[in-house]
Amino acid sequence: MWGQMITGGEHSRLEEMTSVTGIPVMTKKCFTGEMWGRALNEAMVEAGRMGRDIAIQNNSFCEGVQAITVIVDGGWSKRSHKHSYNAKSGVAIIIGKETGKLLYIGVRNKFCQACTLHIPQDQHACYKNWNASSSEMETDILLEGFTNAERMHGIRFTKFIGDGDSSVHPNVPAGWGHYIQKLECATHTCKCYRGALEQLVKDKPSYKGIGGLTLKMRKRLVSAARCAIKLRSKESDRVKALSLLKKDLINGPRHCFGIHTHCSPDLCTKVTTHSVSCGQTSDAAPQTTNCDLSESNASSGDRECINNDEDLEGK
Ligand SMILES: [Zn+2]
Ligand SMILES: [Zn+2]
Repeated sequence: MWGQMITGGEHSRLEEMTSVTGIPVMTKKCFTGEMWGRALNEAMVEAGRMGRDIAIQNNSFCEGVQAITVIVDGGWSKRSHKHSYNAKSGVAIIIGKETGKLLYIGVRNKFCQACTLHIPQDQHACYKNWNASSSEMETDILLEGFTNAERMHGIRFTKFIGDGDSSVHPNVPAGWGHYIQKLECATHTCKCYRGALEQLVKDKPSYKGIGGLTLKMRKRLVSAARCAIKLRSKESDRVKALSLLKKDLINGPRHCFGIHTHCSPDLCTKVTTHSVSCGQTSDAAPQTTNCDLSESNASSGDRECINNDEDLEGK
């Protein structure tokens, strides 16, 4: 039944399918009933309870109220094939980082079929609840979720992880709004880096080619950055971690192009004290290191590194 619903099937399609398999079908009233909404609500309340327990365990409080980190994302279809198009419906969700469970979901609709047929408001369940622009849907839903967090779950979402390229920041008007911090998602940050590199070679095709920003080199640059993020995230002194990460990221291209004079020994086994640029030594060619993408080296290092794009996409 769930499968039918999420693939856009109506009760009639479910009936047809179950009649073939010889399974008795539920009534239409049950199919479209409020049971799903109730089940969803119960699941979210339970997730909130789990979040609260984890906050207590971690001793994470905001003005005496349990505080947790959440992951937010939203979406609405932006375009169809070769058309610019803004969908009339949008959705956004808030998920607990520790539990991985849904804490809030919101939907905004700019369209209601019954309304277009001039069926009076009191005679249909109207789903139209949005008149502003599609791009503001996500912010509005997240704002609603953050604002209702305390009432709904008895917790506050004081840190959130969003898209690296998203400007969404729920400006919660409640007194604790200023505690909300945005954390960057490492995967999205790396995707943005890769996106910027792809744009760079598109704008300046001469940067491509052997010794330049080849596809392999672009992957490698991103991999080195991901590697540095992963390593520095384990550092408990956050200020030190940030300063080291900044250095690693700036040094990334130098390392990938074979100049290891400024590399950190934590990340690079080829740290040298003299410059090896300009082809003066045999080290001039790009080196393989622990953060390298080459298969031969993928598992050779003692550092855990993300070695391919698939990993980058999947985390
Ligand atoms: Zn309507
Ligand atoms: Zn290096």
